[in-house]
Amino acid sequence: MLIHIITQFIFEDDYNHSDNIASLLSPDLFKKLVRFPPYQYYVKKLAEDYSRVVLRCPKCECVAFSDVERKCFACTYEDPALRLLDCPKCSERSVMYDHLNLDINKKLAGKCLKCGSMHEVFKCTSCDCPTVGVAPYLHCAFCAEDAQEQKA
Ligand SMILES: [Zn+2]
Ligand SMILES: [Zn+2]
Ligand SMILES: [Zn+2]
Repeated sequence: MLIHIITQFIFEDDYNHSDNIASLLSPDLFKKLVRFPPYQYYVKKLAEDYSRVVLRCPKCECVAFSDVERKCFACTYEDPALRLLDCPKCSERSVMYDHLNLDINKKLAGKCLKCGSMHEVFKCTSCDCPTVGVAPYLHCAFCAEDAQEQKA
């Protein structure tokens, strides 16, 4: 199988592994590769070297998204504006939100890339830090204040 040969021969450059493969394949074939279990297994292992916790990619759904690099080792998705907050459900730093969007909006929906639960991300009314919680009362992890949701 062609896909198998390709994954075997680009073993040297771990960090850019998926980018290198994507540049060699047609977008369709690359999409197929991303759904190919041996590839998913391999890129998860790669991601572990560059992550504190390997999360589920919001784009391709593979468990190959590095919380440190904010980059997916399976489908090449990366988002420098993406930030992570502690998930109240699984206690991992894994709730994704877009900090540029939070500057514009008072609150955002944030999805946990570990357990898949949805949360609301607000700006703390005391210290202005983004925090996760259930409206209207939130506990801010940064200033340890019980912050209240800002009026929209
Ligand atoms: Zn991905
Ligand atoms: Zn979670
Ligand atoms: Zn605060």
